Order: sequence, then structure tokens, then C-alpha cells
Amino acid sequence: MAVSSSFGISSPAVTTFPMPSPSSSSRRQFLKTSASVAGITALPRALAAQENPAAPVKARSPNNPFVYRFNIGGFEAWSISDGHLLFNDRVDKMWPPEKREDMKQELIAHGERTDGIPLYVNLLVVRNGREVVLFDSGFGQRPNPNIGWLAEGLKLIGISPDQVTQSILSHGHADHIAGFVDGGKPAFPNSAIRVLKAEVDFWQSAQPDFSKSHRRDNIPNLIKSARNALDILKPNLQLHKDGDQILNGAITFEAAPGHTDGHCVLRITDGKESLFHFMDVAHNHLLMFKDPTWFIEFDHLPEVAVATRRRIFRRLAATRERAYGFHLPWPGIGRILPDGDALRWEGERWSWGS
Ligand SMILES: [Zn+2]
Repeated sequence: MAVSSSFGISSPAVTTFPMPSPSSSSRRQFLKTSASVAGITALPRALAAQENPAAPVKARSPNNPFVYRFNIGGFEAWSISDGHLLFNDRVDKMWPPEKREDMKQELIAHGERTDGIPLYVNLLVVRNGREVVLFDSGFGQRPNPNIGWLAEGLKLIGISPDQVTQSILSHGHADHIAGFVDGGKPAFPNSAIRVLKAEVDFWQSAQPDFSKSHRRDNIPNLIKSARNALDILKPNLQLHKDGDQILNGAITFEAAPGHTDGHCVLRITDGKESLFHFMDVAHNHLLMFKDPTWFIEFDHLPEVAVATRRRIFRRLAATRERAYGFHLPWPGIGRILPDGDALRWEGERWSWGS
């Protein structure tokens, strides 16, 4: 089946072109050619050593980057990866089912893997003087080595748990709330945990309503875990509503319901610069931008989630405001741009200039 782009141009469905890995002889030939073109006669020392089995040079594995520093005006900011999950059931977590083949073709058209869909987990940290603000907490410490990297990331940037003064909780799913608890206690004991009242009300209601959700997980367990975490965090909770601001207007809450009832997104502002954190308004950097009506099974209220996504994405595409996605490829900073009838995510290139 053909992929129809938003410009109405069709292209063949199979567009993956695996790159052959050059054989060592062709690589040597390439290096020799490059060297002679550049007028260089000797190979670099490390490469020369590789050619000589008597003096092996073991390549050092580079550290896997998971902490990225940037600025929002005068604020220091970091995007810390909490790791990732891989959805082995591919696009089967996405709805509606009759669009799954289109989704798969969209992934193929961009050279993405289709055997599993990575779900990135990006945690934003912002510091202004003594105020250290953490935006959601990731999964916390778990046996799975692919997740729960926040503690190590904070250590790397020299922020101890007791130095976190403000935390934002966008909603009560485990990848956002679980890291706020460590060993049955608040992981950041000196931090307020700010959340929309609607979110706390949902989880604490007598029977949280999942009747519109396509979620297939163990819902009683999901409710139990969220309630347990909220109980532990109760002394630290500060309840907010749409439009509330904290830290002299530096952070503004915006209600973004649908993924959960009290899901919120946030704008961080300093002077003329801002960053719009759209949290779980998107779970993939291609699918929800290609068609905002495609949604993940975790949405509690899919129709509301789609309406919220349209509203927020349309605005961000019009203003080109710098944005941040919790589940987009790390470090998750970029902009939403118009792309024909659709939109696209343009991830920012890494820059280590400051
Ligand atoms: Zn999430």
C-alpha cells in the first residue's frame, strides 16, 4: 500500500534501505583514498595501530549520553533520560485499529523500526538560584536496567534529592509518579509536589472511571499504585487549577485533559524565552503529528485527548514556541511545524555551547 503524504504525494510503502556495513578491506581502501585526497601519507596513529596486531588499541565505549544541559532564558535546564520502554506489540497499542497499517507505513517512511516502538522517558529539571524544579519523576528504582535513571542523572549534575524544592506532577501514571517515592517515603523530602486538583480527585474518587479507555493493563493495580503514591506524597502535595502560576510567574499550569482527567502541561518562562512542556499530549514523534486523531491506548478519555492535542499543537505550530515532549526522542526539545495538512516534530540539534 502506498503512503500518502500530507502534500498528496504517494510513495512506495517499502522505503527502508539497510546500509551495508563496509568490509574492513573496503574501509581501509576508503581511508587510503581519503588520506591521499587530503595529501596525507600516514594513517592516524590509532588506525595504524589497528592495522598492526602487535599493538592492539581497544576502542573505549563512549558513555551513553542521558543528561543534556540547555538554558531557558537565565534558567539552567537539563533533560535527563529516565530510560525507555520498548512496546513489543508494535503499533498495536495505538488506536484506531483500522489505521494501524497507515501508522506502520508512516514509521517505515521515516526509517523507524517497526518490530517495537520505543517510548522515551524525558525528565526536565530547571534551576534558578536555590529553586530546583523537577517535572515528573520517571519510574524510580526498579530491577529493569532500562529505566529509573533519574537518580543517577541528578547525581551527575550535582543535585541531591534534598535540594529539589519544587516538583510538578503532570498525572498519576507510573512513569510520571513512581520516582517521587523511594522506599515508601517521598524521594524528594523538601519538595512541594504540585498537581492539578482534578488529577488527585480522579484517583481518589470511589471508582475511577476507565469506561472510555482502551487500556488493557491491570486497571485495579494501576489505581492501587497511584493511590498508594499519592498517600505517601500527601504531606508534600499542593493542589492547583488551570492557569495557576508559581515562582513569580516562571511556571504556568495549563489543564490538558484526556490522557488523564487532570493531566496538565506547563510553560516555563524567563524574560523573552520560554519552553512549553506538553507532557503526554504525544507519545511518538511521528504518529500523533501525522494525524492528531491517532491515540495511544493509555488515554483515559480518547476523544478529549484528541481535542486537547489539536488545540495545543495548533497553537504551538502557529507560534513556533520551543517545546519539550516527555515521550519524544531524548532530549525531547524541539518545535512543532506545519507540514502540509499535518504537523511535524522538528527535534532540536544537540548543542554543547554553554
Ligand atoms: Zn507517560
